[in-house]
Amino acid sequence: MNKKCTKCKEIKDIDLFSNDKQRKDGKRPSCRFCAKNRNKLYRSIKVNLNREKERSRLYYLNRKKSIQAKRAIFRKNNPYKEVLIKNKDKYIKYKLHSLKNNKTKIDPLFYLMCSQDFFLDWLGVTNDNINLNNDLDHIVPLSFAKNHCEFSALNHYSNFQLISRKKNRVKGNRNINFQSISKVLGNHPMPELINLILEKNKFEIKFNNE
Ligand SMILES: [Zn+2]
Repeated sequence: MNKKCTKCKEIKDIDLFSNDKQRKDGKRPSCRFCAKNRNKLYRSIKVNLNREKERSRLYYLNRKKSIQAKRAIFRKNNPYKEVLIKNKDKYIKYKLHSLKNNKTKIDPLFYLMCSQDFFLDWLGVTNDNINLNNDLDHIVPLSFAKNHCEFSALNHYSNFQLISRKKNRVKGNRNINFQSISKVLGNHPMPELINLILEKNKFEIKFNNE
């Protein structure tokens, strides 16, 4: 008994077709040879798909590596800038959070040069009434710092104030309150350095009555 294969159109012996109980004649429509070829094709597609997956995974890894390498070079050339950029926003929030939960690691306090209690007192709050909707604000903007020394100086406790988040958003760097500045200068261990930083950033203190 013979049967025509739907795939290769050849007429072949019925034994060259696999069994298929679902079919009327109990045989598959295509011959074993064609089925074998088809399976081969599926397998190669699967292999190719996996290969493609692997390729894009490697591409991602390589890109990640080159990004990391670029960052490493940047860090090497700008040892403190990276800290500034990375921490600009997080730093402040992290600090407020950690102050509230008493979880200061290294430290904010290292730069602040005072104890946590003293700092809270300086800000005019207590552990229980810290409002996390406020931002810890650098009175002289941290972006004015051009080296690590200035960075440290501007993180002294005297350069901090609490400010409502809304106000912080609208407050530009050129808009520093004179009273706040004089508070900094009156309490900072190196007021000359603060003055120098302000000068270097072409910032002139505007008196309220001028
Ligand atoms: Zn066939």
